[in-house]
Amino acid sequence: MSLRRKFYGAFGLIAILAIGLAVYGAHALSATGDLVARLYDEPLVGVSYARAASATLNEARGLMDRILLLGPGPSANEVTSLRHMQSDIDEDFGIVRARVHDPAVGAALARADRAVADWFARGFSILAPPASGTILLPMHDTVERGSAAAAASLDDLIEQVAASGFTYRERARAEIGGASTALTFISAGIIAVSGLFALLFAHLLIRPIRAATRIAEDVAAGNVTHMAPAWRSDEIGRLLVCLATMQTKLLQRAARADTLMQEKDRAAETLRLTNLRFDNALSNMSHGILMSDAQGHVVVANRRFCDIYGLDPAGLAPGTDYRDVLASSVAAGNHCNRPLGAVLAEHGDIMQARQPATATCNANGGRMISISYEPMTDGGWIATHEDITERCKSEAQIVFLARHDALTQLPNRVVFQERLIQALAHVDRGDGFAVLYLDLDQFKAVNDTLGHPIGDELLCAVALRLRDVLRDGDIVARLGGDEFAIIQMDAPSPGEATALARRVVRTVGAPYDLQGNHVVVGVSIGIALAPGDGLHPAQLLKNADLALYRAKREGRGTWRFFEAAMDSAAQARRALELDLRHESLLQQLELYYQPVVCSRTRHVTGFEALLRWHHPTRGLVSPNDFISVAEEIGMIVPIGAWVLQQACATASTWQDHLKIAVNLSPVQFRGHALVAAVAEAVRCSGIAPPRLELEITEGVMLEENSANLSVLHDLRNLGVRISMDDFGTGHSSLSYLRSFPFDTIKIDRSFVIDLTTRDECLAIVRAVTGLASSLHMNTIAEGVETEAQFAMLAAEGCTEVQGYLFSKPVPARELPALFARLCTSRMPVPGVLSLAS
Ligand code: C2E
Ligand code: CA
Ligand code: CA
Repeated sequence: MSLRRKFYGAFGLIAILAIGLAVYGAHALSATGDLVARLYDEPLVGVSYARAASATLNEARGLMDRILLLGPGPSANEVTSLRHMQSDIDEDFGIVRARVHDPAVGAALARADRAVADWFARGFSILAPPASGTILLPMHDTVERGSAAAAASLDDLIEQVAASGFTYRERARAEIGGASTALTFISAGIIAVSGLFALLFAHLLIRPIRAATRIAEDVAAGNVTHMAPAWRSDEIGRLLVCLATMQTKLLQRAARADTLMQEKDRAAETLRLTNLRFDNALSNMSHGILMSDAQGHVVVANRRFCDIYGLDPAGLAPGTDYRDVLASSVAAGNHCNRPLGAVLAEHGDIMQARQPATATCNANGGRMISISYEPMTDGGWIATHEDITERCKSEAQIVFLARHDALTQLPNRVVFQERLIQALAHVDRGDGFAVLYLDLDQFKAVNDTLGHPIGDELLCAVALRLRDVLRDGDIVARLGGDEFAIIQMDAPSPGEATALARRVVRTVGAPYDLQGNHVVVGVSIGIALAPGDGLHPAQLLKNADLALYRAKREGRGTWRFFEAAMDSAAQARRALELDLRHESLLQQLELYYQPVVCSRTRHVTGFEALLRWHHPTRGLVSPNDFISVAEEIGMIVPIGAWVLQQACATASTWQDHLKIAVNLSPVQFRGHALVAAVAEAVRCSGIAPPRLELEITEGVMLEENSANLSVLHDLRNLGVRISMDDFGTGHSSLSYLRSFPFDTIKIDRSFVIDLTTRDECLAIVRAVTGLASSLHMNTIAEGVETEAQFAMLAAEGCTEVQGYLFSKPVPARELPALFARLCTSRMPVPGVLSLAS
């Protein structure tokens, strides 16, 4: 409830009490007034009129006495007077009756009225004239008595009225006394209620106001821990609520202020640390920093700046003129000892431009400093100084490495290309030149047998010798691996190019002593002459390479000049490559089979599968024409897998004792697919593994020796047989026989051709068959065309033969007829009359 309502409530209560008191007082006063009025009206007026009646009665008694005593009789006037007097008394009695309502007075009045009326009646009856001398005396007594009685009743009336007046007076006094007592009590009550009201109000107001005051004092004193109670709904309650809200807000503000202060402290600490770190960073930076203001005065310079230029930090205090700094720098031997004026001018130009700029400066000790200038918005500058001496050195090193072969230090292909372009730029003036493309012969063998370190050493030695054979102005580069190239400048004639090539072949071919190893390598050279053989670097190199290819093919250790025909051969080769990559290649392939015959019985022991390519436009392509290309481009792997599948599948239709020989390329030994391909072919065809004989050549033993040997062992573990093909054509054929336990040695056709004419061929065949038999190996002689050859081979103990004498390779469909023909041409053996099982 609001304070105002409470106040009005209490005030209303007191007002009602006061009004009641006033009404009561007014009522009491009017009752007292009534009493006083009645005291006046009734007893006093009644007494006067009773007394007047008594006086009139006394007058009437006098008149009556006189008449009776004096008389003869009354006069008319006297009677009239009496009559008047009687009516006056009656009137007085009437007034008394009307005014005084006291019963006792009424009774006295009735008695007096009767006594008076009786007296007057007796009087008038006496006064009436008698008929004859009447004696009036007795009558006079009667009247007398009547008159005394009337007078007595009137006195009694007067007394009664007076007594009534006394009664009224006493009642009025009592009334007034009661009213004043009541008023006293009521007044006292009002005063008490007012006091209570005041106390109540004081209780209502003072305590909370005191509480509010205390809280306000606390708040003013900054102490907000005593929370204002909020248990009232009136204004003070609201005041307290406001104080409480104020307290809460003050507390919140205080908390916020606390947080802000803490944050400020933290920020200050962070700033301090940042400044510290900044100072540390500035002092320990790898870059020198110098900040200057718009007037060219130093703002800050770090220690590194002083270190870079060898300056005393004391001379770089904030405010120092930058020109003085430059002067000290020049004095310290920086700026290539250029005059200060020139250095200042250069610096002034940069400052004036007010653009980011970079510059380099030669500092003392031959160091190179990179400077980056950045203008600042306030007109000042920040310059970063970095010592890039080491970087420059490493960059130079990188540039060198990027342009030179790391092993031989010779210029690399990039430089060679550039020099070719430069040389070509001068050919218009008639300055022709020669490009010699070099490739070491048998370098791979050196690497394989003596190891890569010796191989590297050999390359370095070759590089040195190549440098030595060149004239000034010529250039030699290593293009990669064992390939080198030379540009012979100054329009050499073919003769001069030949002379250089000869010198190179002789010099490079001279023996080397590498870590105690006696090493000999040859070099093949292809030569292209500019501008005749090409006007573009790539074309010249390609043509020299084509000539090199020819030199390699035609004997190695020699040189060849480029010819236009070489290019067409190369183009033909590219066309062949494309055809080999054709998606329907496998559909164009077919296997021919050449029988292998037992030299003792002439029985067919098996067939060698030989690949044929039915090309839509080229016609039938010989394996000699495409196998090497297929090997180079990797197509031999899918082709070889196809051959294995096909050959085994065909052999599975033959009698179980007939073998099938399949040629493998060294390229198929790379990777891990070969063993799986062989196993798959055997599994799919269902033939017994020993029926499959895999023919490998020297190449397999040369390349990746240990890896290939492990593949060979894996193949052997499949149960298939391995034969050494083209035996005798390679360089180390005999050593290969020691490396792997071959099942068969195939004596190359080249020994068979001249067998009958050249003794050394017979000697070789004899040696091979002897070795093979001692190692329990089969021997198959290839290319047997004549009976004479056959007879000699049989005599030398060659176990099997193969050649046109028996049959050329034939397609599978012709095999039954071939087989039948071969069977009839010799003594039939039971069970081997037909090809099929
Ligand atoms: P190669 O393995 O030495 O095969 C024997 C080659 O000699 C075959 O030539 C065969 O036709 C031929 N030849 C056999 N007997 C005589 C003869 O009495 N006189 C003459 N002049 N030649 C005879 P072909 O079929 O042209 O194969 C040439 C070479 O191609 C094979 O030599 C072999 O190295 C390779 N080759 C053939 N087929 C495959 C194959 O499927 N895979 C692989 N990697 N190479 C194969
Ligand atoms: Ca073969
Ligand atoms: Ca062969």
